[in-house]
Amino acid sequence: MITILNDNFSQLNEFLHQKSFSKIFILVDENTHEYCLPVLLGNMETDLGFEILEIEAGEEMKNIQTANQLWEILTEMQADRKALVINLGGGVITDMGGFVASTYKRGIQFINIPTTLLSMCDASIGGKTGIDLMHYKNMVGTFAFPEQIFIYPKFLETLPFKELRSGFAEMLKHGLIADKNHWDQLIQIRKLEVETVVPHIQASMNIKQNVVDQDFHEQNIRKTLNFGHTIGHAVESLCLQQENPILHGEAVAMGMIAEAHLAYLENLISEEDSKIIIENIQRYYPYLDISDFKDENITALLLNDKKNTDSKINFSLLTGIGFCNYDHQCSQKNIIEALSFYRK
Ligand code: NAD
Ligand code: ZN
Repeated sequence: MITILNDNFSQLNEFLHQKSFSKIFILVDENTHEYCLPVLLGNMETDLGFEILEIEAGEEMKNIQTANQLWEILTEMQADRKALVINLGGGVITDMGGFVASTYKRGIQFINIPTTLLSMCDASIGGKTGIDLMHYKNMVGTFAFPEQIFIYPKFLETLPFKELRSGFAEMLKHGLIADKNHWDQLIQIRKLEVETVVPHIQASMNIKQNVVDQDFHEQNIRKTLNFGHTIGHAVESLCLQQENPILHGEAVAMGMIAEAHLAYLENLISEEDSKIIIENIQRYYPYLDISDFKDENITALLLNDKKNTDSKINFSLLTGIGFCNYDHQCSQKNIIEALSFYRK
């Protein structure tokens, strides 16, 4: 369940009172420790003891070493199966905290309080948890639902602009794959800022939740959420390898542009629609220089994508604005042409 929190966090307090937890562990990174934890602690009313678990900020921390440290701390602090983990942070924290909680003692309860736009609209919803392995994103993980998701949009006020823009890419994606009206409203936004984006968060969350509700285990329609992510993830992985990190949403924006053109090359959408999509995404995102990445390195990564079976590359491609297919296999020639289209 997703709840938008009042200023006094009354719904969170009600939740904590209703359940009989033994202890609370709040997972933060250094930034959410500084900006969000004081707000949470200032409003949280509970007699339970709590401990703060802090990790360094950044995708590089989303690995097995961090998970191991957290499992060890939970063990040392004698967290039992009635302990609650509160994930207070962006997608790294909700992915990591969900993974650690869902595996510790075969699973303890956790809630997500997302603090980035990306985690509010996307990462905290849908029950996927995970960590990266080598330079592959989200290679190890679980399907596990948080007990609740609490959204407090005011957390976005301290978020850097680039992070806000990164999250906006997932919102655009939600409109493109499932709801033309949402897309049309988003592209009315001239200047990306908290005030212009917040009114659209609920609609975007609902799209994600609705898709997940229909297909939790990603057998069919949930795959549409991967639009922009097949090429986007490959580029994100290459950047990670080169220690030249880019934000997830920046990679997704790039991936959506290349994949919108790919959909046109595959005769799924009209040239006009592909142009509308591409021009609007470009209004918000600067050009990403992928000239260093060779086609064969990108396609090798595409083949390793978790979404593939039988060594074929599966895409989720738009069939119109607000419509998306999945398990679409593209010709290698068109994939390479879509990449060179982006490079130009
Ligand atoms: P993030 O968690 O790294 O947060 C981005 C940055 O913002 C960090 O430096 C963080 O410390 C800082 N921050 C967070 N909240 C803040 C606030 N309120 N004020 C100031 N600074 C703040 O990154 P993200 O973009 O939120 O999430 C990306 C991650 O989410 C990736 O690892 C991606 O794989 C994952 N993800 C998961 C799913 C899923 O379904 N599980 C979906 C999409 C993305
Ligand atoms: Zn994403």
